[in-house]
Amino acid sequence: MSSPPRKGPDLPNAAREPAARPAAGPASWDLAVIGAGPAGMTAAIAAADAGARAVVLDLGARPGGQYWRWGPATGDGRYHHGWPAFAALLRRFTTHQAAGRITYRSGHAVFQVEPLAADDAGGGQFRVHAVADERRREYAAVEAAAVVVATGAYDRQLPVPGWTLPGVMAAGAAQSLLKGSAVVAGRRVVVAGAGPFLLPVAAGLARAGARVVAVVEAGQPAGYLRRPAGLAASWRKLPEAGGYLAELARHRVPVLRRHAVIAAHGGERLSSVTVARIDAGWAVVPGTERALDADVLAAGYGFIPQVELLGEAGAQLAAGPGPGAFVALAGPDQQTTVPGLFAAGETTGVGGADLARIEGAAAGRAAARYAGRPVAPERRGTRRSRAALGRFAAVMESVHAVQPGWTRWPDDETVICRCEEVTLGELRTAISLGADDARSAKLLARPGMGWCQGRMCGHAVSAIIDSEAGRGGSGRTGTRDPGLAGPETLASRPLAQPVPLRVLAALAEDSAAGDSTVEDSGVEDTAVEETVGPPEPR
Ligand SMILES: Cc1cc2nc3c(=O)[nH]c(=O)nc-3n(C[C@H](O)[C@H](O)[C@H](O)COP(=O)(O)OP(=O)(O)OC[C@H]3O[C@@H](n4cnc5c(N)ncnc54)[C@H](O)[C@@H]3O)c2cc1C
Repeated sequence: MSSPPRKGPDLPNAAREPAARPAAGPASWDLAVIGAGPAGMTAAIAAADAGARAVVLDLGARPGGQYWRWGPATGDGRYHHGWPAFAALLRRFTTHQAAGRITYRSGHAVFQVEPLAADDAGGGQFRVHAVADERRREYAAVEAAAVVVATGAYDRQLPVPGWTLPGVMAAGAAQSLLKGSAVVAGRRVVVAGAGPFLLPVAAGLARAGARVVAVVEAGQPAGYLRRPAGLAASWRKLPEAGGYLAELARHRVPVLRRHAVIAAHGGERLSSVTVARIDAGWAVVPGTERALDADVLAAGYGFIPQVELLGEAGAQLAAGPGPGAFVALAGPDQQTTVPGLFAAGETTGVGGADLARIEGAAAGRAAARYAGRPVAPERRGTRRSRAALGRFAAVMESVHAVQPGWTRWPDDETVICRCEEVTLGELRTAISLGADDARSAKLLARPGMGWCQGRMCGHAVSAIIDSEAGRGGSGRTGTRDPGLAGPETLASRPLAQPVPLRVLAALAEDSAAGDSTVEDSGVEDTAVEETVGPPEPR
């Protein structure tokens, strides 16, 4: 077996020099941070510690991201791991807010990061475009000398017969409902997919009173034992995983390994799923299929980093982790191939919240330095922790990697693209007409043409085309350069978020008139303390 990929490919040595900002006029902000998850919060705090002024823009209502998603009903941390660490992080964040070093703007969907010429009006190196306020959907923009993109990831779904039924949802969605609103997704839940993330989802649901019928893991976790170096590197992860497994055992939840949910059934909504044993290539072992009653299937096969903002700003992307996923290339200071543009957390590869925080701190410090602030040396031991967590991430990725055998689970009637309702049969017709990559299939049969712009189906379409062409089904071999995000992959999305036409029209008028005035949304800094009292550890 080939050695497992490392988290986030490194840049060549030439790009590893400490970031230094080229001469530029005054900027509105030293840095803009996009995303207030573990990586973005830590980046803003690290930059503010160095005296920089940071503006943090996030889609959500309050900081925390996916790992520490919370709301008024869950602010005691009962569904969270590492809550005291978050409470401490939030205290530092709000202290910098109160001192005016961090400005936090919730409800801002950033749709583009535009690198500006050094002499462009406003003097900033980047203009960040966003749609603010979910109801009013106003245009908002900020300018900053440096930008940290920490937009996280989303769940990878594999289409199976029946997966569009009400009751089938992403494992991350079930987790978000629970962590954000204390809502339990269903009464009888099957949690399925690949990766250690299934464990906290199932344990959280069981703790909240759901009957978790089974955890169905397609990977073979015994694989960790065959890579003891990576496991030893991450001894801190073991108690967390062990805790979830113990909780599942207490609730008598069976954990089925090398099994998969290969179909979902029901009339108006989900009533049962078919579970089968699979081999190492994820082909179904004939005769092992059986039905499990369930009203919710929470499924997820790893995560796909959200790198659109980075790619469209010119940062080089590289393949991985898994089919359909790309990561931003970044050096040890998290700077991408675009000077002043930094990537942290899951945008450089899926490595979990601890690694996201380490990368966030590195990015925040480097961005502050880029903006001309003196920065104290990195804390001792950081490099070692980071390397250890990176090695663990690589082992985790290889143990739970999606294997091409799944492309035989759907049948001709299975919807592959939910937005445009394109079935596997229609995709096969497009392939027979010559579609050889996801982009040409999109033009012939419309998968990836809808609301999500191929985020859900893009990787599946590529893998199916590969498999049908007898190229293995990894979804990579048909691309012009399997290592890079070419236009044929659907990874290119000029607008990372839906934007009202009136906003685009106004922007087009402004640029035709040569007006580069920075607009602000008028949406004030969101005071976290006023939204709901800062969470306290239990
Ligand atoms: C739904 C979901 C649930 C998860 N739950 C867990 C869990 O329980 N346990 C676990 O170990 N791991 C979980 N993960 C994995 C988790 O993503 C990471 O381990 C960790 O949260 C990564 O931190 P991050 O800061 O890189 O990204 P995130 O925590 O994902 O934070 C990214 C932030 O960026 C914001 N954002 C994204 N795009 C934009 C945009 N265009 N404009 C403005 N803001 C934007 C998001 O609102 C979010 O707040 C989950 C992942 C997902 C997708």
